[in-house]
Amino acid sequence: MNREKKEVVCIGAGIMSATLSMLLKKLMPDATIKVYEVLNEVAGESSSALNNAGTGHSGFCELNYTPEISDGSIDISKAVHTASQFELSKEFWSYLVTQQYISSPDTFIHSTPHYSFVENEKDIQFLKKRYNAMIKHPLFKSMKYSENRKEIESWIPLVMEGRNEKQKVAATRIDLGTDIDFGALTREIFNHLQSKNEIELHLNHKVKDIDKMNDGKWNLKIQNKKTDESFQVSADFVFIGAGGGAILLLEKSGIREARGFGGFPVGGEWLICNNEKIVQRHHAKVYGKANLGAPPMSVPHLDTRMIMGEKKLLFGPFAVFSTKFLKHGSFLDLFKSLQFENIGAMIEAGWHNMDLTQYLIDQVKLTKKQKIEALKEYLPMAAIEDWDEEVAGQRVQVIEKDKEKGGVLKFGTEVIFAKDTSIAALLGASPGASTAVDIMINLIKQCFPEEYNSDKWQSKLTEMIPSFNKDFNEESYCDDVRKKSHEILQLNL
Ligand SMILES: Cc1cc2nc3c(=O)[nH]c(=O)nc-3n(C[C@H](O)[C@H](O)[C@H](O)COP(=O)(O)OP(=O)(O)OC[C@H]3O[C@@H](n4cnc5c(N)ncnc54)[C@H](O)[C@@H]3O)c2cc1C
Repeated sequence: MNREKKEVVCIGAGIMSATLSMLLKKLMPDATIKVYEVLNEVAGESSSALNNAGTGHSGFCELNYTPEISDGSIDISKAVHTASQFELSKEFWSYLVTQQYISSPDTFIHSTPHYSFVENEKDIQFLKKRYNAMIKHPLFKSMKYSENRKEIESWIPLVMEGRNEKQKVAATRIDLGTDIDFGALTREIFNHLQSKNEIELHLNHKVKDIDKMNDGKWNLKIQNKKTDESFQVSADFVFIGAGGGAILLLEKSGIREARGFGGFPVGGEWLICNNEKIVQRHHAKVYGKANLGAPPMSVPHLDTRMIMGEKKLLFGPFAVFSTKFLKHGSFLDLFKSLQFENIGAMIEAGWHNMDLTQYLIDQVKLTKKQKIEALKEYLPMAAIEDWDEEVAGQRVQVIEKDKEKGGVLKFGTEVIFAKDTSIAALLGASPGASTAVDIMINLIKQCFPEEYNSDKWQSKLTEMIPSFNKDFNEESYCDDVRKKSHEILQLNL
């Protein structure tokens, strides 16, 4: 029999803690949920609009989600999984809009066609094969493919303008794609929870330490950054939703399950267009093929974004190396995370990812002029004076002990939880915010197993996220779910 977990503490006020707080409050209305955030605002790190790419990851355009396997076929399973996860997110956000917990979908989500665009013969063959594999699945059936320059020009004119006429090109397009301001979404969720006194949100509070007490509860040492006072809080259940800061806190908790994990920080940097005429002529997210060694979050893309009601155009992200685990973190973060249990795995992971190391070295050396050259592959007419450099968010890739290789670098997200299910942490960041709902449902399933299986929780979850235990392999079901959520979220169908 699991102990009741009615006193919940979430560390960090990003999209993950917002999603978990909302879900738990609806499932356990009598729970007390306290959220501690070191910054003076919510969503000030990775969930902030400019700190991520705002792609509603649905496997439509991310070419690295559909690798070509040894028999020459395309494996679309990751794209299907990600697209299915994203359908759950849209269902949950629709529930929040219907309940008027969120003022309007227009505050955070907008239809933005997703394109994949490639140039050379090998990549064109890959894209065609990928398209043929994907349109058979109900989730991707509306995808269009073209090698016709005129048609592609009508889709993405700026990408074609000034391009060598002899150069063969190909693109896929899906109108169901979205752009999301995850910062606005996080603020909307926390605003609602706070205005109804459903949670306690403490900004400017840093969690310094976490210890297990003899009665099975957790004791958190917290510092008020404004007054410098420190105090302690106890909890039955702790969620470490501290983004890049999660690994350091997980190590402090001392749970066995955290041993051997390490983190490798990779930052991002954008080029942001300052020429309004160009911004207004592009309305799409255009993803290309990543260079050898590039980590998944550094697949270049040309992105229309809607941030605080304003249309923007971003290109990137370029990878940046820093030893900080958070944008507002310390340069000592990487060194502080090194422990006897993870140092071997960290060295081995570095050794087995020399192409990533080389890629990072090359990226760090890029001048603005060289970044514009990279942009020209997408916008041949790009001019250096129309673009400004801007720092994006910081991600920490998970390094895990591995029996064969010693240590491996992981690019997805990992939920680590203690055997007694009293504490859980989210590590890693990809695909990230778009899939927060599915990640948090699974966390609840693992950490609140009896309650999760109860009729009460199953029926509440079904009310909030009707497809949470279904798949989207059947066409009419997939169409119905999309029709409903796209209507509520005011998105293209
Ligand atoms: C360059 C880049 C591009 C990305 N693009 C996309 C994309 O296109 N689509 C997508 O879905 N996802 C994307 N992501 C990933 C996405 O941003 C993250 O998955 C998501 O924002 C993580 O949310 P979080 O709540 O876990 O972390 P965060 O938003 O980082 O929140 C963690 C919070 O914890 C706080 N904190 C840390 N330590 C402490 C402490 N000790 N005490 C108190 N508070 C603490 C931090 O200040 C922070 O506010 C991208 C990320 C990056 C960096």
